[in-house]
Amino acid sequence: MIRFTSLAAGKEIGAHAYLLEFDSLRVVLDAGTHPKRDGLASLPRLGDLPFGSVDAILLSHAHLDHSGALPVMAREHPGARILMSEATRVLSDALLHNSVNVMTSQRDELRLAEYPLYTHRELERLYPRWETAPMRSPFPVTDGADVRCEFFEAGHILGASAILLERQGHRILYTGDIHFEEQSVTRGAALPTSGVDTVIVETTRGNVARDPDYTREREMDRLAGHINEVIKRGGSVLAPVFAMGKTQELLVMLHDLKQRGEIPDSPIHIGGLGTKMTRLYDMLGGRPSRLRPNMRILEEVRIVISSSKKRAGQMEYHPRCIYALSSGMMSPKTVSNIFARQILENERCGLFFVGYADPESPAGRILATDPGQPVQLDPEDRPRALRCEVQKFDFSGHATRESILSYLETLQPSTVILVHGDEAALAWFGQNLPAKLPKARIVVPEPGTAYDLL
Ligand SMILES: [Zn+2]
Ligand SMILES: [Zn+2]
Repeated sequence: MIRFTSLAAGKEIGAHAYLLEFDSLRVVLDAGTHPKRDGLASLPRLGDLPFGSVDAILLSHAHLDHSGALPVMAREHPGARILMSEATRVLSDALLHNSVNVMTSQRDELRLAEYPLYTHRELERLYPRWETAPMRSPFPVTDGADVRCEFFEAGHILGASAILLERQGHRILYTGDIHFEEQSVTRGAALPTSGVDTVIVETTRGNVARDPDYTREREMDRLAGHINEVIKRGGSVLAPVFAMGKTQELLVMLHDLKQRGEIPDSPIHIGGLGTKMTRLYDMLGGRPSRLRPNMRILEEVRIVISSSKKRAGQMEYHPRCIYALSSGMMSPKTVSNIFARQILENERCGLFFVGYADPESPAGRILATDPGQPVQLDPEDRPRALRCEVQKFDFSGHATRESILSYLETLQPSTVILVHGDEAALAWFGQNLPAKLPKARIVVPEPGTAYDLL
């Protein structure tokens, strides 16, 4: 028997966790938290798993929607092995410690007695259980088990892995988050191209059609053009970015544009967690998914690092600069949200989005606001007129829906399980997959419902 159950809190993006049962052997893929929920409601369906019933927890990558619940799941399954790539271990360790700090500061603000869901000490006590595995090197999922596991580069961010599990010739591939194209510092995915029976696949961009003329190069030129205009009229650019992944990709992209003389050598300001994650990206220079192994981003890119002790609100505005600040969706109380107060009403400035923005987030609200209209970034701040230039660029770290479709067409699996997408994204794949895979069983899993795979 092989059986799949989604433990995610819902079908949308967030709190990813998937159970695979191979008879009595129980493997959980990912243990994430939900970015739009707080407290215990941000966790996956941990109650579906009896205490101590999991044999192994495998992490695809370090983003919190895949890793944020790991300490809680590990506590409830003290005998479970915990496995991930080396880069994922380094990056998720830093992100989990940071999330202890975030939860601690939210405890009073949100009146959540359960926060923090885990502590720094608990994370440290967990270290001896964290194991790493190299890419493309199969290993038994637990000692003596007949289930073998293999990691493949998934693109997306440093260390991201697709996870292949095999028992007696039956092979299941969990893509995690994938990107087939090369980015500035992250190599594209290299996934198995045959012999897979079941694919559990992300569908993030299922509702986004890509312009057929799109190339990353052309999009970089467009970004350069808009940066030039802002600098020329004496303003500054704010690019809200996720601290890990997007910050490093953007820094290297801007460095390349400067080297080619396409944008002026303006100082680039980063701060807080973005600095820490960039340092880790540099430390992980030689790892398989890292392009430009010898490039030390913090040294080679002209970066101004704001002291982490400096409160976000005190971050000084300078003209003719580029600010790459987290969070990417401009959540209230984050550096990008607070600093935006100095940008929004200034018509010389530019607010440039280079990553995903949930429509309900402050970033999403800005994108939906007409020029000159008021927008409120934080309930404690006054509404501000949107006078700066707003632009959106496509440098997504997720595979296009077309590339996923053609990958699945090559692979010809007998079952496809669609995860990690909003309703419209899942629906697009549900409608378009049957033409490519007429015989395949296509499943949009209901959380908590078991699906037999064999
Ligand atoms: Zn991710
Ligand atoms: Zn994700």
